[in-house]
Amino acid sequence: MIDHDKIKIAVSERRIRFRQYSAEMMIERGMNEYMTVCPTCKGSIYIGTAVFRVKIGNGILVLEDVPAEICSLCGEKWFSDEVMIKIEAIANDVRSRHVKFEIMTFDAA
Ligand SMILES: [Zn+2]
Repeated sequence: MIDHDKIKIAVSERRIRFRQYSAEMMIERGMNEYMTVCPTCKGSIYIGTAVFRVKIGNGILVLEDVPAEICSLCGEKWFSDEVMIKIEAIANDVRSRHVKFEIMTFDAA
């Protein structure tokens, strides 16, 4: 079973992923801060919404309609820092209430 702190790690990993390219590298690769090409598969990226699932202790949190940048080819998703901070807050709240399964819409959370 995944323990409570894994949420923090999962969140951090995504944050690092979002920032895995420095400004210089992005210019080199023809990318800008609003990525248009997937760094993994070169698919085009569009701005949309995604489902974010995370295990919290023995529970599961599902957030729908989370703003994200999504690769149209491989489906890789990136979330902004603002979004990740809000997800972290929601996750902490869910953890503190020892909820087994929680599903909510991001905007309503
Ligand atoms: Zn891709």
